Order: sequence, then structure tokens, then C-alpha cells
Amino acid sequence: MYMPVDVRYGRGTMIANKDVFAKYGERFLVVCGGSSAEKSGVLGDLGKCGIDFGVFDRIGPNPLLSVCREAGTLAREGGFDCIIGAGGGSALDAAKAVAIFAANPSMKAEEIYKRDGCAAPLPVICVGTTAGTGSEVTGVSVLTNDATGYKQSISGKDCYAKVSFCDFGYTASMPLSLTVTTALDAFAHATESYLASTADEFSRAYAAKAIPPLFGILRSLAAGEEPTVETREKQYLGSLYAGLAINISGCLFPHTLGYALTENFGIPHGRACAAFHPYLVKKAEQHAPDRMNEIFAMTSADRDEYLSVIGKLTSVRTGMTDSEIAELAARWKNGNKNFAKTPGGISAEDITAAFGAIK
Ligand code: NAP
Ligand code: FE
Repeated sequence: MYMPVDVRYGRGTMIANKDVFAKYGERFLVVCGGSSAEKSGVLGDLGKCGIDFGVFDRIGPNPLLSVCREAGTLAREGGFDCIIGAGGGSALDAAKAVAIFAANPSMKAEEIYKRDGCAAPLPVICVGTTAGTGSEVTGVSVLTNDATGYKQSISGKDCYAKVSFCDFGYTASMPLSLTVTTALDAFAHATESYLASTADEFSRAYAAKAIPPLFGILRSLAAGEEPTVETREKQYLGSLYAGLAINISGCLFPHTLGYALTENFGIPHGRACAAFHPYLVKKAEQHAPDRMNEIFAMTSADRDEYLSVIGKLTSVRTGMTDSEIAELAARWKNGNKNFAKTPGGISAEDITAAFGAIK
């Protein structure tokens, strides 16, 4: 198990630990989207930390490689020492890529996928404002490759933050739809990890810590209840535990197919992955029934309630025809590492059936 991030957790943690910044330089580039770093209160709090920082605020959801490279050039030319990712998974993932590009000026955008022999990235500090991806504690960054339009991740020891300030208070400004999609993402991480053939003692312990509170949140969201301060903290903690779990095991086929739903239909990441959860349950019931029953038991839900909560919050319909599904499925004709880790494996027929279930 390897997880080298210095995690500072709790309400007000960034200002309380502001001395940490000096370890990573004098000039900081904040990498964020157009509004969340401001709305969540992160930029205001950074201002209270007494550090010298500039802002690059053009990171969109599903961050583009080209934009990360542009920010990397700016970081280098501007003489910044450290990259601060402030926002949801998109901003945090982008910060990791920006730090790599900043240290490797001759690297072309797509070369980030093959980083042998390249210079160590600038240090990264993550400040999360959503409660789903767990990017604060994973050595993963999911980027959209402009050349193909595909979401494709990078991972490795050079993709961890040095420090993550984890303050659930910054998630309070999330609108309901984002609360739902990020809760679904965290739950997808925890359950996919628990069922993965690559799971181990540690990943299952983390996943088991995440599943009960996250399902409780999904149940209350499905019942139309508003998030409270307590549920915000539970969701954020759950997302971190789930992140620790996938950092060991990786995710299963719903994440791979979910990327395609985001690319082709603009469905937000968490809902896109959760759309395939019912098919994962089916596979797990056939090929890993004990594990699936353990998950049902952890949620204190029977099968019907479990699937109805996920279905109610996800409700994805693509409108794809059978021939469109077949065309899309051809993309994975050579398989995928997440398919092999899924209970029973994922065949071409499985892909067709999984998309068929939401057409
Ligand atoms: P996101 O894409 O970072 O953000 C979605 C939207 O929510 C943006 O418009 C953002 O605004 C807004 N937002 C963020 N925080 C907010 C807040 N506190 N209040 C109001 N609005 C807020 O969403 P995400 O679900 O956290 O991240 C999804 C990305 O993470 C995907 O690309 C996914 O593939 C990736 N991911 C990464 C990992 C990993 O291990 N690295 C794991 C799972 C998923 P702004 O545009 O203004 O920021
Ligand atoms: Fe995810």
C-alpha cells in the first residue's frame, strides 16, 4: 500500500496549517474552474494564508490536456514553485497534469501518457470542494485527450499531491445535483473496489468504511432530504475512504463505460458510472455472490431497495439504437484492464447488454 499524501483534515484546516505552504515554495499557481474556488470559499481562505499566488481559472469539467499544458507553460514562465488545485476532481486532476507540464517544457500534450525519464513535477497541493472523486488521496488524474476526445487517466508516484487540505466546509456550496453525482461517484468507487479481483485487506477495509455512510446519504437524497452539515462531512469522509480504496484496487467496468457516457452525452461522471451499477450487481451476484451480499448487508438495504435508490438518483437513458451501441462497443474490442478485474470478466456481449439496459 502506497499513499504518500500529507492529508490535513477538518473544518478550517488550511488556515490552521498555513505554515505548510512555505515548505513548497514562495509563489503558488492556483488552478481552478470559473467559479467554484470562489464560491466554496477556498480563494478567500488562501488570501488569509499570507501566500503569494496567481490564479489560472480556465479548467473546465473533464479537463482538457491542451488547457493543462497551457497552464503548465504559464506556471513555468511565471516562475511559480507549486501548483494548488482548488475545486472538484477536475481541478485537482488538472493541477497534477499542470505540475508535470510545468517541469517538462518540451513535453507534447499526449506525451504525458508516457512519462519515462521526464523531470519530477512541481509540488501539488489539493484543496477539494466536492465530495466524490477522492483525487486528494489518489495517484491518478483523469484527463480528456483532445486528439481523441476520450477521457484517459494517468497514474503513478508522480501523480500524488504533496499535501491535501480536506475541509468538508468547502462542499457546502455544492448544488443538489452535484451533491448527488459526487455521492454516486464515491459509492461507485467503494463498491467497485470492494468487488474488484485486485482488492486486498486494506482496500476492503477502506471500502467497508465508506459504503455504509455513503449509502445512507444516497438513501436520504433519494427520499428528497436536503444535505445537512453532518451529511456533508460524512460524504466527504466517505469519498476519501473510497479514494483510498480505489488507489489500491482501481475501478471496474462501470468507470470505463461511464467515461463514454460523459464524452458522448455530457452525463456527469458520478451519474455516468452509477448508470452501470445495476449491471455490476448482476455480474457480482453471479460471480462473487458472497461479496455482493456483504455489500447489501453493509447498506442495510435489501436488493430491491438498493437498486431502487441507485436507479432513482441515476435515471440515465441514452436513446441509443442497437447499431449505435454496437458501434460504440467496438471501441473496447481489445478489452480493458477494468473489465478483467470485474467479477466474471466483461465480454462484448456484456457491454452490449449494459448499454442496452439504459438505451
Ligand atoms: P468537477 O468536474 O470537478 O466539477 C463539476 C462542476 O461543479 C464544475 O462546474 C465546478 O465548478 C462545480 N463545483 C465544484 N465544486 C463546487 C462547489 N463547492 N460549489 C459549487 N460548484 C462547485 O466535479 P467532480 O465530480 O468533483 O470531478 C469529476 C472529475 O474527476 C471527472 O473528470 C472524473 O473523471 C474525475 N475523477 C478523478 C478521480 C481521481 O482519482 N483522480 C476519481 C474519480 C473521478 P468550476 O468549473 O467553477 O470548478
Ligand atoms: Fe469516479
